[in-house]
Amino acid sequence: MNRVYNFNPGPAALPLEVLEQAQRAFVEYGQTGMSLMEMSHRSRIVEQLMGETEQLLIEVIGLPSGYQVLFMGGGASTQFALVPLNLLKEEKVGRYVLSGSFAEKAYQEAQTVGQTEILASSKADNWTKLPDVNPLAAGMNTAYIHITTNNTIEGSQFQEIPDTGSIPLIGDMTSDILSRRMDWTKFAMFYAAAQKNLGPAGVTAVVIRSELLKEGNERIPTIFKYGTYAQHKSLYNTPPVHAIYMTKLMLEWVVRQGGIAELEKRNTKKAGFLYEAIDASGGFYKGIVEKPFRSMMNVTWRMKDELLEKAFVVESERNGFEGLAGHRSVGGLRASAYNAVPTESCQALAGFMNDFRKRHG
Ligand SMILES: *Cc1c(COP(=O)(O)O)cnc(C)c1O
Repeated sequence: MNRVYNFNPGPAALPLEVLEQAQRAFVEYGQTGMSLMEMSHRSRIVEQLMGETEQLLIEVIGLPSGYQVLFMGGGASTQFALVPLNLLKEEKVGRYVLSGSFAEKAYQEAQTVGQTEILASSKADNWTKLPDVNPLAAGMNTAYIHITTNNTIEGSQFQEIPDTGSIPLIGDMTSDILSRRMDWTKFAMFYAAAQKNLGPAGVTAVVIRSELLKEGNERIPTIFKYGTYAQHKSLYNTPPVHAIYMTKLMLEWVVRQGGIAELEKRNTKKAGFLYEAIDASGGFYKGIVEKPFRSMMNVTWRMKDELLEKAFVVESERNGFEGLAGHRSVGGLRASAYNAVPTESCQALAGFMNDFRKRHG
């Protein structure tokens, strides 16, 4: 197989060694005479897999005690609804930081559940920067503050996570979890659908402080309650076992690479190649997001006109690059360089960008 340079925004690249490991275990898991997908989720083996995956995530992040990990279905979009269903009490307000279209979707979904307000927004700037977040502007009636740490579609990322004091901070980390060191304890809860940095689609990791769990709304269906997943160790109903297994392989891969600190180094270098190609292009490529807010995960840029951008995509595909067209809502180009995207892919793309500029500039 000729592996493409995979810059897909999600689902996204997985390490070849992880795919091959999963392939080897696909038909028979251990020496059980069956596939993991044919096993009862009540079996000791699946129970153990769930426990180990949870433990690994805690270790990789270096989470202090007091947090619980839940594995849920439905993707990050389901969390947009479950967060207010569980945590937005009557009389209280869910306050949202709008920094991109996924953040806005989370806010819109919460509006269907209860009282919400925008705490800060950069929509008027077309998401080309991040809004200033002032937690002090959130009143005492704030149930939580929701923030999207990395804006996948627009290509911006919070460098500083605001300190919200006693107000629970909830983070959608779908597109940058495990990509850099951060003070995770600023969050009362964070979640990430797996298909960008954690594994395949089908499972969402939710990390939540035990105190916040206790405050959960009781008047919602059992299957929507975070408490149900916590109580039953994410085995209340049938979990997406195979996706969780692949997430475990991904986490073991992260450990083998040297953990988050090493991935952060690589990601800085990887994004550096691409931003360098943009910034040294004499305006041929123009970054969409203002420099201080640029994302290490999703690098977005434009060119002189749409025709040239289309030509770029076509030529890039001919040269083995995949997934570089910008999101339909933004246009332009986007290179998503999540944890599993090798440094060589970014180096090759920077080379292609320079070459394309010389031919078309
Ligand atoms: C991809 C993404 C989502 C949507 O995830 P789904 O699993 O498709 O619901 C939400 N938030 C962010 C930040 C994302 O990158």
